Amino acid sequence: MSTPHPVITIDGPAASGKSSIARLVAQRLGFTYVNTGNMYRAMTWAVLQAGVDPQDAEAVRATAASVVIESPVAEGKTQVCIAGHALTDAELNSDPVNRAVSHIARVVEVRERLVAAQRALIAIGPLVMEGRDIGSVVFPDSPHKIYIDASEDVRASRRSAQGHADQVAERDRLDKQRKASPLVIPEGARVIDNSHITLEQAVEQVIVTLKLS
Ligand code: C5P
Repeated sequence: MSTPHPVITIDGPAASGKSSIARLVAQRLGFTYVNTGNMYRAMTWAVLQAGVDPQDAEAVRATAASVVIESPVAEGKTQVCIAGHALTDAELNSDPVNRAVSHIARVVEVRERLVAAQRALIAIGPLVMEGRDIGSVVFPDSPHKIYIDASEDVRASRRSAQGHADQVAERDRLDKQRKASPLVIPEGARVIDNSHITLEQAVEQVIVTLKLS
């Protein structure tokens, strides 16, 4: 499946630094930046708003099927709207959403819907898309695949420095062990260890590794 525009896929565990790297790579290249984690977070926010137990897969499936989710582009990146409401960073990163998102992301029908929406974004033009399954499932034929890693200690301290009481190890466990599209290093991906390099160095490594400069 070839795409009409290039897609740089960036996958990796929670708080590995992939969002900051992906955003800057997109800016450098003039590509649109897509944070797919925010799409799963928005779906989670909608499920919680409906009063549904995130661990009740059947109820999540039923609720998620009727959620209207859109990804309009503004200032070089996609936003995420639920029923016309553009979600704020505070809503997307609230503690309840942090706790529930990996449960919502395990539901196959939720993934199918969001993967279809992510693939449709290629109509916008060249993309930098980051998440957990972008190089393995969403755009497996992209020749531009990166996997960003960082040690568990570094990731936990980055997350708390951002002011989030987030159990990154628990989210990673759920994301790696789930049946549907688990977090893996995609075939053909270049791995960058972001534990002890600066953001600028990581961005440079992505550009150089993919021979995009
Ligand atoms: O990237 P971020 O940490 O914001 O993602 C939040 C959660 O969304 C992840 O922990 C994972 O459960 C889910 N996710 C996913 N597939 C993606 C992106 C995110 O399952 N492509």
